[in-house]
Amino acid sequence: MSLKNKIVIITGSTRGIGLAIAKTFAEAGATLIISSRNQEKTTEIANTLMSDYNIQSLGIACNVSSLESCKELISKCIETYGKIDVLINNAGITDDNLLLRMSEDQWNNVIQTNLNSVFYMTKTVSKYMLKQKSGKIINITSVVGLMGNAGQANYAAAKAGIIGLTKSIAKELGSKGIICNAIAPGFIDTDMIDSLPKEYISNIINNIPLKRLGTVKDVSDLTLFLASEKSNYITGQTLSVDGGMNM
Ligand code: NDP
Repeated sequence: MSLKNKIVIITGSTRGIGLAIAKTFAEAGATLIISSRNQEKTTEIANTLMSDYNIQSLGIACNVSSLESCKELISKCIETYGKIDVLINNAGITDDNLLLRMSEDQWNNVIQTNLNSVFYMTKTVSKYMLKQKSGKIINITSVVGLMGNAGQANYAAAKAGIIGLTKSIAKELGSKGIICNAIAPGFIDTDMIDSLPKEYISNIINNIPLKRLGTVKDVSDLTLFLASEKSNYITGQTLSVDGGMNM
């Protein structure tokens, strides 16, 4: 699945799932905008990808919870490359607590970073995709957005919101050549789940039919399929990559 001559923005691509997507897309020959809040880190990753995979890549810092910052990221991409073929809305955080103890700040921060960000990025990028009459948008949601999870009301609400937003974008922009899908990973072995107690993780693995955590490669391979021309008749869908956890 080649992504040669495709310009791709991946938010939150300095580690975890985002970085794995960047490496998988680099292997497919894409030109990559690497992004997170840390400029130094994005430049470092972009430089490594250019030398390891012989592709074009640029690191641009962006805080996805700010509309202005999202606009700057997309403007810089257009100034440099003249178009955007694929947007991966991947950046996300957790800030867990039981509902009764969850502060308004915890609720707002997670909604702002995980859900409002997808609105900001998509609204801004769609202006250019509409002119191009083409584009693919892939939103990283979560199994928690489909199933809910005790202690993650803020995260589950944001991720469920992404699923509704994905369907609406697909319906609104499909006739203009813009395709939008979501990916719902199960529990994937990254920094995000490192803080969870070992016993909690063992319990989760027991409830996964494939009896293991997912790898970042499991997610990046599906993302490549959705970004490629092999998936051109799929839109508005949420595809799970969760070892059968949710069925
Ligand atoms: P990580 O914590 O490993 O990486 C998160 C990335 O997002 C980093 O690059 C981080 O960089 C960036 N980021 C965080 N906040 C912001 C912000 N405000 N603006 C821009 N960038 C930001 O997370 P994962 O790789 O595990 O998760 C990636 C996505 O996958 C998330 O949306 C997550 O919800 C989802 N997911 C993860 C699962 C898992 O089990 N790991 C399961 C299901 C879904 P920096 O902090 O430097 O800005």
